[in-house]
Parts: sequence; C-alpha cells; structure tokens
Amino acid sequence: MHLAGWHAMTRLCLLGIPVLSLVQCHSGTTAPVTVTIDDRSKKFLDFYSRAQAENAGEARRWELWKSLYHFAAVPPTPEGDRMAREMLNQAWPKYAAALPRIRQGAGVFSPAPSAAFADVARLFGADVPLHVRLIAYVGDFDGNAYSAEDEKAQPFTALPVEVDTGFVMTHEFAHVANAELAHLSLGWRRTIAHTIFVEGLATRAAQRLHPGRPDSSYTGEFSKDWLARCEGMRERILADLEPHLASDDPDLVMRYTMGKGGAGIEREAYYAGWLAVGEMLTNGATFPQLARMDDAAILAAVRKELHAPERAKKDFREVR
Ligand SMILES: [Zn+2]
Repeated sequence: MHLAGWHAMTRLCLLGIPVLSLVQCHSGTTAPVTVTIDDRSKKFLDFYSRAQAENAGEARRWELWKSLYHFAAVPPTPEGDRMAREMLNQAWPKYAAALPRIRQGAGVFSPAPSAAFADVARLFGADVPLHVRLIAYVGDFDGNAYSAEDEKAQPFTALPVEVDTGFVMTHEFAHVANAELAHLSLGWRRTIAHTIFVEGLATRAAQRLHPGRPDSSYTGEFSKDWLARCEGMRERILADLEPHLASDDPDLVMRYTMGKGGAGIEREAYYAGWLAVGEMLTNGATFPQLARMDDAAILAAVRKELHAPERAKKDFREVR
C-alpha cells in the first residue's frame, strides 16, 4: 500500500465534471449515514480509449484529458495545470496494467463505502445523520486521498481507484465524521494542534476498525521506514512541534504536514497525532468524546499530551 500522497490538501481542486450519482445508504447506526458515490472512472476510460484509438501524442493526449476527464488533485491555477499535465505523462504508461481496477470504478473499494462509513459513525457514536460524497477518481498512482468541503460546504472524500489504498477510506471517513460531529472545518486553515489531533484520531479510528496490522499500515509509510525513523527521533519531533501548537500559520502547517519538521522527517504532525491520540485513548478518553471536541478543547488536550514535563513521564505505550 503506497500512501505517499495522503491528504495533499494543498494540491486540492475540484476540476470536476458533474456526473450521475448513486446513493448508498446504510442502516444499523443510531443515526443514518449516506454515501453518495460520484464515480469519475467512466470519464477517465472515455479519455483513455479515445487517446489510444487516436494513438495520441503528448499534446493531443493532454487536450483530450482536459476535454473528457479533467480531474486532478492540483490547484485550479496555471501551475496546477502544469502539475496535472506532468502527472498524466508520468502515469500514462502505467494505466494499461491498471485497467482491470479502473474499469471497476467505485466498485473496487472494499469494504463497501456505505459499510465503512457506518462503521466510523458507530465508532464515534454518531447521533446525527452523516453524509459524505465519495469521489472515485483515477489519479497518478500516488494514492492521493483527501477530504474537504465543496463549494456548497458539503463534505467530500476523494479516493483514487487505480491503486489499493487499504484503510485510507476509513481514515478519510473518520475526518468527515469528526468534522461533522465536532463542527470542525475541513479546510486547509487550521492550527498545528488541530492538524495533529484530527490525523491522530483518523489513524487510531482506522486501527480500531481494522485491528491486528502493523502500526505503519495505519500511520502510512510516507518514505522508507518513516514510522521507525520518527520513533527514533520522537523527542526532537515533539519538542520542535510544542511551541507551535496554537499557530495556524500556513507555512508551519505546510512544514509539519507536507514538508519536513524539526527532525528532518516529512509529515511530523501525523506522527505526533498518532502518539497524542493514542495517549488520550490509553488514559480513558473514548472515540465518541474525542470526535466531538471543538478547537479549544483540541488545543488543550494536545498541549497536555505533548507538554515537555508530561512528555518526559510518558512511555507512549501502545494502545490497541
Ligand atoms: Zn488524514
């Protein structure tokens, strides 16, 4: 499972073309959950077969991609266009082997999205109806899944079909359910504490719902031995993060999510979240409580877990 592209919110855009949607419902929770499937794979296949039939060169292929498909996790800017074109060129030779997956579209996701969302709702004790639009799209094999709000402030999760993203659907649905229950924003502007907390909650939710796998399958391995390297640099990572917990400076958010933090490792906020929320659960917090915390409570809770004197006493033992 390749998870290098998780939550690339900065590369977010909605270059979407409206498509027919199909609604999946699931009962069995205290409140109903619905997943609207927004499957872009057919549009991609139209583009792919047309480009093949024409034996299109790079420029023509790009033209066809824009007119027939036009969905990529990039900003809606000229720079985003350039990135999308580069991603297409890099991914193009790999699509042939991935066609059996791509042809299944959203049907390739397992467990079924409605069941996965219902599991998250149950874990969080959802007492209000939850809804998410799941955009099944064909990406560039980097496993780039993300959740955000659309122009109508409705939550959506975008999940690629061309690669197996494992527990990422559960992880992303946890972000959506958490945001709905706690009235948190799914936008990019957020504090470091918020980032740490929501990622920790999502990784721990995936662990609880899909138990018995190596820790790195929940946290993701963003580069070789990412989790082990973070473990080895734990104090340095946490000490570097601590003074910035209340900051929502976009450069800092970038540094600790997409970039490299104090220990020179990428996505250090994700590692801190795995630890901090793990500690909260170990100390008796429940998923329904955690999933309802507002930003002030999140900041206080993350501060408490990562505060230096407290940190020194902890062994951050594993929770299961
Ligand atoms: Zn996440």
